[in-house]
Amino acid sequence: MLRDGFSVCCVTSFDSVLSGLASPMDFLAGFDRQKALDAGLDPAMVRKWGKVNDVYFGKTKWTAKQRKAVECARAAGFTADQLHLIEKKLNHIDDDGEKWALRFELLGVRGQYDTLERRTKEIVPAKEEPVPKNAVRISKSKQGKMRLSVVGDEHDIAALETALRKKVTAQRPASPQMYDALIDLLYKGGGVAREAPRPFVLIPLPDYVDIIEGKGDDVVLTLTNGTTMSGAEYLQRVHGEELNVGLFDAHAGPVNAYRAQRFANDKQRMLASAVSPVCVVPDCRHGADHCEVHHITPWSRGGQTNMNNLAMLCTYHNRTNDDAPWRRKRGRVVNVRGRPFWRSPRGYRAMNEPNRKGAMHQLFGPLRI
Ligand SMILES: [Zn+2]
Repeated sequence: MLRDGFSVCCVTSFDSVLSGLASPMDFLAGFDRQKALDAGLDPAMVRKWGKVNDVYFGKTKWTAKQRKAVECARAAGFTADQLHLIEKKLNHIDDDGEKWALRFELLGVRGQYDTLERRTKEIVPAKEEPVPKNAVRISKSKQGKMRLSVVGDEHDIAALETALRKKVTAQRPASPQMYDALIDLLYKGGGVAREAPRPFVLIPLPDYVDIIEGKGDDVVLTLTNGTTMSGAEYLQRVHGEELNVGLFDAHAGPVNAYRAQRFANDKQRMLASAVSPVCVVPDCRHGADHCEVHHITPWSRGGQTNMNNLAMLCTYHNRTNDDAPWRRKRGRVVNVRGRPFWRSPRGYRAMNEPNRKGAMHQLFGPLRI
């Protein structure tokens, strides 16, 4: 009896805390920063709730919108964390009118925290970050080690990465091997080849015409080593040299490559890189030139080496991909009409953002199903 009584008591109090956090409008209306701090709550959490309280219950000239927002948030059952996420993502929007419009759009999203987070990326315009300055920073020594960090031109750093990865083997983690290669480079010399092997430049036809006519300064081209260049840079640096050019069909995907290498695999690798200039998994930064060609249906299960079965994945994501059809742990690569996507274990499909600059996307626009 006692045991039952205890468990009922705990469930009830947890449920009441949870329901408070899950429908926060009531407690936020009477939120008091000082009281919360006096009660010993984490100041960071008090700041979070205070921020949400200011928007939904603080002084504002937008009283009608504020009232409507409270109703929307209450009706849709937004949690305190979700409401804070919305404010965090709207922080950089200066114009109040725009901020309210975006807030209402976000209050229209349905789903869990992750869904809301994903949708904010699509709905809220990205913050314009100032371009970082080139720099080398060296940390204090700790346990006999120091940290060296370098910020520099993406083409220079990509060329350095290519040089450091040249002799990396699968037997050991890549990062210490790259360190050894860097130290060799510094002490023994040998230099860094400029972006070797030469990256594949993706050019949609209308942009190509603009560039050749000298109107391409604002055009941003994607390279298969994960970097970009403007149309003007393209004319200075690439035009006149031999180019790798890919042909793409809106439904069948990559079809052929001109001036392709001797081996079919190089050609396929080049085309797969053109479709996915970076690793297929969302937020992964690895350029296709440093990726492995992944078989979507593995060889061992009868997967063929044809274009619609190939995708670019970095070493790490190639290893963690759910190859077996029944495994739903880390997500897998799928191919939809010639375009590789990452599919989460729960089944939603996502594209790594830079791959929107991939050939299929550039030439034929987003996939409509
Ligand atoms: Zn990856």
